[in-house]
Amino acid sequence: MLNRFSITRSLRHRWLYPVISITLTLSIVLSSTIATLAIPLPELIFRGVQVIQLSNLSARQEMAIGEQINQELLSKQVKLFRNQDAQNYINQIGQRLAQASDRPNIPYTFQVIDDRNVNAFATMGGFVYIHTGLIAAADNEAELASVMAHEIGHIAGRHAIKQMRQAAIAAGVATAVGADQNKLVQIGVELALNRPKSREAEYEADRMGLGTLIRAGYAPRGAVDFMAKLLKSGSPPTIISTHPATGDRISAMQRLLDPSMLNSGYGLDSNSYRATVERILS
Ligand SMILES: [Zn+2]
Repeated sequence: MLNRFSITRSLRHRWLYPVISITLTLSIVLSSTIATLAIPLPELIFRGVQVIQLSNLSARQEMAIGEQINQELLSKQVKLFRNQDAQNYINQIGQRLAQASDRPNIPYTFQVIDDRNVNAFATMGGFVYIHTGLIAAADNEAELASVMAHEIGHIAGRHAIKQMRQAAIAAGVATAVGADQNKLVQIGVELALNRPKSREAEYEADRMGLGTLIRAGYAPRGAVDFMAKLLKSGSPPTIISTHPATGDRISAMQRLLDPSMLNSGYGLDSNSYRATVERILS
């Protein structure tokens, strides 16, 4: 015992630590990635590319990719609504919901997009986008908040990451092990704008969204009423195509809710909501 102890002690030269840890890290990284990456790892390193392990994405990496997707979206694809009152109003509702959500421990960014199509979407790492068309289509704050809580549910469920992983593998730019971060950002932008999420992801976001809505103090009927209204409208709004299976989702939500609790909570005053909307959207 004493011998082994003294050998261990003699190994504790300061210079040895980095050498051992670098060698260990390199051999783990090389053995696990070279065989499976679509683009060979040495080539990626040569190009200075950051390789992201999608199967084991940390919250910090998720937020970094979300931030990059956000910059890409705002610079080319979507137009931020230039009214600070509207941004403040949405952010204040969003932060209240985020605190009551299943994932309150990351920062959230809520932004109003200047677009008349009724839609909302979330990417990853706390980024949520609400169209002006959706704010206008809601009849009260509980309805608006229900959609925002649903989008927070997508972030809590890490749905965009799962979708991104599948899309990256299908496109041949990654394996389950890793991919080039810039390629992932391009895929993230494409997914945010054009690709519906799976039915399973929708049900999960609905379930988590309802819990969030209720815990934040809103009347849960906002969720059911708003979805029913979207289904009834003559031409289906964009949000139906980006968030599929709406009819079944209404019955699934109704099964989760106690009918006597539908009206208990805040946010059903449509007059005050209309006044707010008039002020912030005009
Ligand atoms: Zn959804």
